Amino acid sequence: MISAWAVEAVARLDAERERTPATPLRRFPLPDGWQVRLWLKDESTQPTGSLKHRLARALFRQAIASGRIAEGTTVVEATGGAMAVAQAHFARLLGLPYIAVMPEKSSGEGVERLGGTCRHVDPPLAIYGEAEKLAEEVGGHYLDHYAAAAAVDWHGGDLAEELFGQVAECPHWVVVDPENSAYFPGWASGAADYSTGMPSRIEGIGRPRMEPGFVPDLVDLVVPVPDAASVAAARRVRQDTGLPVGAATGTNLWGALELITRMRAQHVRGDVVTVIGDADPRHLRTCHDDAWAESRGLDWRPHATRLERLLDHGEPW
Ligand SMILES: *Cc1c(COP(=O)(O)O)cnc(C)c1O
Repeated sequence: MISAWAVEAVARLDAERERTPATPLRRFPLPDGWQVRLWLKDESTQPTGSLKHRLARALFRQAIASGRIAEGTTVVEATGGAMAVAQAHFARLLGLPYIAVMPEKSSGEGVERLGGTCRHVDPPLAIYGEAEKLAEEVGGHYLDHYAAAAAVDWHGGDLAEELFGQVAECPHWVVVDPENSAYFPGWASGAADYSTGMPSRIEGIGRPRMEPGFVPDLVDLVVPVPDAASVAAARRVRQDTGLPVGAATGTNLWGALELITRMRAQHVRGDVVTVIGDADPRHLRTCHDDAWAESRGLDWRPHATRLERLLDHGEPW
């Protein structure tokens, strides 16, 4: 029996999806004469400001429809931090208590503003065990987005589906990965249990272990991107669009430029689409701030010069 609360909750989530407009595609300027166009799908226009909004909505919907979240259930998540604001938003929309378990260095500010609670743990790999234990203790539900993402039912909120309606031809797949993350070495070596145990310096992406939601067989190519290059490329996106994007958007631009370079070498024409994962004035104090980058040993300058040579002068990558 589906409760009246669950019916109402699912209806609220669907209504929220209906009134949230499709995120725009922005053209990223490339030198004249290139037969390739680059588009940025701007997920910073989501109500909670990042691409995690879609997945958070789908996870709540699925857990409610299957009875794992009911009226009053405390919702618990293990997260590097990027997912927490979007989930706190939906917990509040549905009147559910929400607790995010995150590494010490992650900020819980946005979560608390939305009425959620943060629990910080160390080392970063302890978030999973702590979230599971906490959910059991309070009789709550551990959403586990790293695992659930592999089999999520998007109910029309899917980024890929929305994108395919906005472009003429189906784009190829590409995935980028920052330093210290397990995805690239795990994908390249075929080791499904690869672990680095190290936190990523690029906010919002990268994981210390291969997550179950990452399905290597579905991925055509993983491009590892140096963190300093991500910072340089995020600054370049800001220069060209005015948006204070996070460093992860720089990682995306860098990966897209690697792919475009391959296409041009092979005389392939077409559109490449990547994602603006988030944009927020607080990034003016992170990757766009010289002192922030220097204190982390991230020398973006040589990478910025490389971007200028390619984008402003059409020189080889
Ligand atoms: C969102 C996401 C991350 C980052 O996780 P958070 O817990 O949101 O910080 C890492 N890997 C993948 C594949 C993701 O989708």
